This record gives sequence, structure tokens and C-alpha cells, in this order.
Amino acid sequence: LRLKNEFAELQNTFNDMAARIEHEISLRKKSEEDRRRLILDISHDLKNPMSSIQGYGELLIKKKGLTEQERDEYLKVILNNSKKANRLLTELFELSQMDSPKFSLKPVKTDICEYIRQICGELVPQLEREGFRYEFDILEESVFVLLDTDRFSRILQNLANNAMRYNPPGTQISVSLTVENNQVVIDFSDDGIGIPDHLVDNIFKPFVRVDDSRNSKTGGSGLGLSIAKKIAEAHGGDLTLCLNEQKGSTFRITIPSI
Ligand code: ADP
Repeated sequence: LRLKNEFAELQNTFNDMAARIEHEISLRKKSEEDRRRLILDISHDLKNPMSSIQGYGELLIKKKGLTEQERDEYLKVILNNSKKANRLLTELFELSQMDSPKFSLKPVKTDICEYIRQICGELVPQLEREGFRYEFDILEESVFVLLDTDRFSRILQNLANNAMRYNPPGTQISVSLTVENNQVVIDFSDDGIGIPDHLVDNIFKPFVRVDDSRNSKTGGSGLGLSIAKKIAEAHGGDLTLCLNEQKGSTFRITIPSI
């Protein structure tokens, strides 16, 4: 009987190990697939601006008798495409920096209510200039969190830019701050076009965009939300997309209070 029990135990251990190895292999396959996908997306997104820069650069050198207007036009295309490529590379650098084990924040004890009120105030001129309606509902108290204010402002910048870039003027943009069970909850909402259901689970993954036409006017790199989520996570919090009953999108930032 003892031998039988020992055998059963051994078999359990073996099964357990086999399951773990299988799990590890599938994780590695997935990260290999993610890496391959990432490289494919990067090359795809860099190819267009680089080809334009090269093409228009060659025209500037080779084409005879260009008018001043044509020269200016070609130079503008070159400049715009360099900016696009530069932005993509900067954001990729930022993203990979945050994945590095050396990445660390410089957190400082900060009154988050005062800080968010200040950021909202700074957004007002742009919101008004671009014709957006707005509403801020920030808790009238002092609530302290550990914040790397430079990094954290990037989250709000990205959310604000997205809300203004992807929604038409007249859209209402709202920011609220509440505290629930020692968690500061900052909701950044708009009543605009919203995120389609099929993308809700993937919207924080690099290179995911609703309008995937890479040349579209509004088209960004698709890295903004990935970067913002990583910054929130590095603060011990999170950035999520709330399921919206109403129109539009609500992005929720959480961060523990101290
Ligand atoms: P991008 O650089 O393309 O803006 P993001 O990661 O910031 O990348 O956003 C991913 C995609 O999510 C955007 O391309 C856009 O389609 C969609 N999106 C983000 N915020 C909003 C919003 N407030 N309203 C509608 N769509 C949005």
C-alpha cells in the first residue's frame, strides 16, 4: 500500500511538472509571437515615412527646374514624415525603457487632488480653443499618493489628446476624482465615438488602433495607451477602460493612497 501511495504521489508530481513545462512552453511561444508581431508592426509603420523621405529627397536633388512652391511642398512632406518616424521611435524607446528591469520612478508624496485640479486647469485653454465642452469633479480634500509627477502627467496628456483627437468638437470631456477603499479613482470620460466592443480587450496593446489606415490624418502610433497603462502600473495602480452604458469612453486610472 505504501508503495502504491508513493507511486501515486510520484505520478502527481510528474503530472504537475509536465503541466508546468507545457505552460512555460506556451508562454514562450506567445511571447515569441508577440515579439514577431511587434517587429512586423514597427517595420510596417516606419516603412511609409522612410520611403516618403527618401522619395521626396531624391526628387529635390534630381528633378530639374523645381518651382519654389514645389520645393516647399516636398520639404514639408519630408518634415512631416520625419516627425512621424521620430515620434514612433521616441514612443518605442519609452515603452522598452519601461520594460527594462532598470526602470524606476522618482516618486514624491503629492496631493493628488491638487495635482489633478492643476492639470485640468492647464487643459482648459486647449479644450476651449478646440471647441470641447468640459466638466471637472475633483474631490475637495487633500489625498496623498506617491507620484512621479513627470511620468504621471503623461497618462493624462495621452488621454486628453486622444479625447480631442478622436472625437468631434462639441464632445463633452469629463474628469472626476474620488477615493474608494484607499484607492484614488480618476475617471477620464468623453461622450464621443467610443471604442468598438471587439477592441475593448486589446486597446492597451501596442499598435492597436480603431482606424488602422496607417495614413489617416488622426492616426497616431498606437502606443499611447500602452505607455500610459505601464506608467499607471509602475505606480502600483492601473489604467483600464470601463464598460460604458452611455455613449463614449471612460478610461479609469487607479492609484493607491498613502
Ligand atoms: P494612438 O497613438 O493611435 O492614439 P493610443 O494607444 O493612444 O494610440 O490609442 C489607441 C486607439 O484607441 C486610437 O488609435 C483610437 O482609435 C482609439 N482611442 C483612444 N482614445 C479614444 C477616445 N477617447 N475615443 C475614441 N477612440 C479612442
